[in-house]
Amino acid sequence: MSTVVITGSARGIGAATAALFADMGFNVVINYNTSEADALALLDKITASGGKAIAVQADVSQMSGARLLFDKAKKAFGAVDVLVNNAGIAQQRLFTDITEEDYDRMFDVNVKSIFNCCQCALPDMIHSKYGRIINISSMWGVVGASCEVHYSASKAAVIGLTKALAREVAPSGITVNCIAPGVIDTPMNKGFDEETINALAQETPVGRLGTPDDVARAVAFLADEKSSFITGQTLGIDGGFI
Ligand code: NAD
Repeated sequence: MSTVVITGSARGIGAATAALFADMGFNVVINYNTSEADALALLDKITASGGKAIAVQADVSQMSGARLLFDKAKKAFGAVDVLVNNAGIAQQRLFTDITEEDYDRMFDVNVKSIFNCCQCALPDMIHSKYGRIINISSMWGVVGASCEVHYSASKAAVIGLTKALAREVAPSGITVNCIAPGVIDTPMNKGFDEETINALAQETPVGRLGTPDDVARAVAFLADEKSSFITGQTLGIDGGFI
């Protein structure tokens, strides 16, 4: 049975992806940093419907957290076949108000976590000559968002990391791809008022916000064994926004 590690999967896009992969028969490693109650509720939901899962607390922005996550995953289920680098943070702030700490935290969580988890996942994937890595970027990493310069820059870095790593590990049967979601209805956007959310939905050509399931289905497509000729790509799941 295949095993998937999904970072930051207690809620939002990560939780929908965990639930979908459990339905598909994967062993699921749920990861959370602070959202313990949500992670345990998801774990209960998956195991109650006959799925196999564990929940691991780990701050993946630190290498020690990523190592702990993969140690526990391996102990429970053996080698990891699919890694979904989903954990992320966002912040709306004028460029001139962004502090050095804001910038560093943004890059630690959104980019360094991917470096950390890929370093932990790849030795086994290279050994087994198989792996699927899916990194969650953002459409703002493609076009840039005003008042989110550090977020946009971090998500652009995810795309660059994906393209380069894809070339390096392709000979080992491992694909590395990105998803660039548009505006998705998750707790990440709870800071926006209703007017802004409605405006974003109207600006989206399909006329609605995306759902976590919209993104989860794209992750599953890229994680499929048969998607072996797709690598280094950035797949927009944005309702036509860009
Ligand atoms: P979310 O805030 O619901 O989920 C993010 C999860 O990551 C949270 O559970 C959070 O606790 C976790 N996390 C944060 N820092 C962590 C750390 N150091 N270690 C482990 N977990 C950590 O938001 P979401 O919308 O589900 O976001 C998932 C991903 O999708 C993020 O990378 C986000 O940037 C990206 N994204 C979201 C949208 C959107 O509109 N919601 C759009 C584009 C991209």
